[in-house]
Amino acid sequence: MNPELEELYQEVILDHARRPRNFGELPDAAVRVHGDNPICGDEIHVGVKFGPDGSLQDIKFTGHGCAISQASASMMTTKLKGKSRDETMSILCAFHDLVTSETNDASKTLGDLRAMKGVRKFPQRVKCAMLSWRAIEQALQQTRGELTITTEAA
Ligand code: ZN
Repeated sequence: MNPELEELYQEVILDHARRPRNFGELPDAAVRVHGDNPICGDEIHVGVKFGPDGSLQDIKFTGHGCAISQASASMMTTKLKGKSRDETMSILCAFHDLVTSETNDASKTLGDLRAMKGVRKFPQRVKCAMLSWRAIEQALQQTRGELTITTEAA
């Protein structure tokens, strides 16, 4: 494997892809977002339940697609569960920076998610990595009901 691919498929990513955390339906979800990345064929369905204070009390996802999309969704759910809306937005921005830019200042707060930084060398994989995060972003805006997003903006 070349070094860039090795950086992309770090052990922690492969582990989440093989054994996704918080995988399954969330029966009492307040909002469900279906994310579609047609370029790669990734699908992510995220269910979120909010606490009385608006925090992300519970998150679960289902879906299928490449290892990066599934691992990113799994790592996202473990990172964001229990977080407030503000914390979620700042983690989301930090993660977006991590996978798209060479400056890496915010990554200290990201923990295991830093393993995703290899994605920035593969622009087509950024959409895979961001799919579940775009879904959460929409979930926070919508807060209830059901909606569909796609990485191919109209
Ligand atoms: Zn993908």
